[in-house]
Amino acid sequence: MSLIIKGGRVIDPVGGLDRVCDLEIDKGRIVRTGRGLSGERVLEASGLWVLPGLIDMHVHLREPGYEYKETIESGSRAAAAGGFTAVACMANTDPVNDNGSVTDFILSQARRRAAVRIYPVGALTKKLKGEQLAEIAEMKVRGVVALSDDGATPMNAEVMRRGLEYASTFGLPVIAHCDDQNLSRKGVMHEGAVSMRLGLPGIPDAAEACIVGREILLAELTGAALHIAHVSSRRSVALIRGAKERGVAVTAEVTPHHLTLNDAALAEYDTNLKVSPPLRTEADRRALVEGLIDGTLDAVASDHAPHNIAEKEVEFENAAFGMIGLETSLPLLLRLVHAGTLTPSQLVQVMAVAPARILGLPGGTLGKGVDADVSLVDPDRVFSVDPQTLLSRSRNTPFGGWELKGKAVCTLLRGKKAYEDREWKSRQKVSS
Ligand SMILES: [Zn+2]
Ligand SMILES: [Zn+2]
Repeated sequence: MSLIIKGGRVIDPVGGLDRVCDLEIDKGRIVRTGRGLSGERVLEASGLWVLPGLIDMHVHLREPGYEYKETIESGSRAAAAGGFTAVACMANTDPVNDNGSVTDFILSQARRRAAVRIYPVGALTKKLKGEQLAEIAEMKVRGVVALSDDGATPMNAEVMRRGLEYASTFGLPVIAHCDDQNLSRKGVMHEGAVSMRLGLPGIPDAAEACIVGREILLAELTGAALHIAHVSSRRSVALIRGAKERGVAVTAEVTPHHLTLNDAALAEYDTNLKVSPPLRTEADRRALVEGLIDGTLDAVASDHAPHNIAEKEVEFENAAFGMIGLETSLPLLLRLVHAGTLTPSQLVQVMAVAPARILGLPGGTLGKGVDADVSLVDPDRVFSVDPQTLLSRSRNTPFGGWELKGKAVCTLLRGKKAYEDREWKSRQKVSS
């Protein structure tokens, strides 16, 4: 039964398309775009953007091992509500995803319970210890799309070198969480004037930049594909820009929170703002926005990191690092679009096209014949973030009470609804 998404603004940078038209879906695939299309079912989309399903290439789904924070099911529902049709989940579960049986478990849970596509990222080293390489060959066979010790950095450069070499023989990119653990050890926020004032131990930006520089040099040495996770500082942006100019195979991502906030926000000691890498200065934040606009930073990823209340409602020093992001990622990026900083097409580029390309995934386009993973977005819908109504199992967001403009109202996976906004749904009924 064919479905027509009618009269929306269809934005597909890969196909060079940005215009108001209809989109036809049949048997779970995109058939065509055009004007005046008809079909058995119609979704009225005037005033909406019709985008390739968004892809979040960096989330923590916490299963197996930390199901009290999140599960593959709850995290995938939060993803669908945020406009995502695919996510890549990091390996720091318990047990760590460092061998084929854990990869198998994640994929079987995903098949049974997930609302969106789940792509596991395998650990680079066993138990994320940075010592011995993980069971990379067997994880690759099972379906990991990248390797990463995210949450930790292998501090031994020789281990990282071998990891990059081994990964590249399997055609897998390595995602680097760049943090010199000797420099950052006791820090809980960015080291600078604000940390001095608040009396909190700091993490210098050099803790990130040292490792960004090291990983770039090792990528250059090995020819492996390197992806830098959650870039937070202007020094790192400069290093990545220089590497790209030299032709190094490096890509990078930035989070919505690093694009939105700076360390001054920590004045109230809100532990939901405690993230790794930390929120840095306003100059850093601006450099990240610039880096995103000029393509130095290829993608936006949430680093969705659920924690329960007990892990956050403690003194700042003792709180866990991380915030959830799947349901606020798109609205926060839309702030940059509404401000004229980013075009809608650039938004699709950084939230769908680039993640698909970097991880070698299907999607990121509305081209003829591809699976109909589609995100319908109301760019003008004003709403207030209410942590209690989020679909994630955790509530650790600093954006509670923020008024944001624009959100996903319907997410289609292979042409089927994976999420529908309640208010939008009721309006569809009235109009049909
Ligand atoms: Zn990380
Ligand atoms: Zn992470």
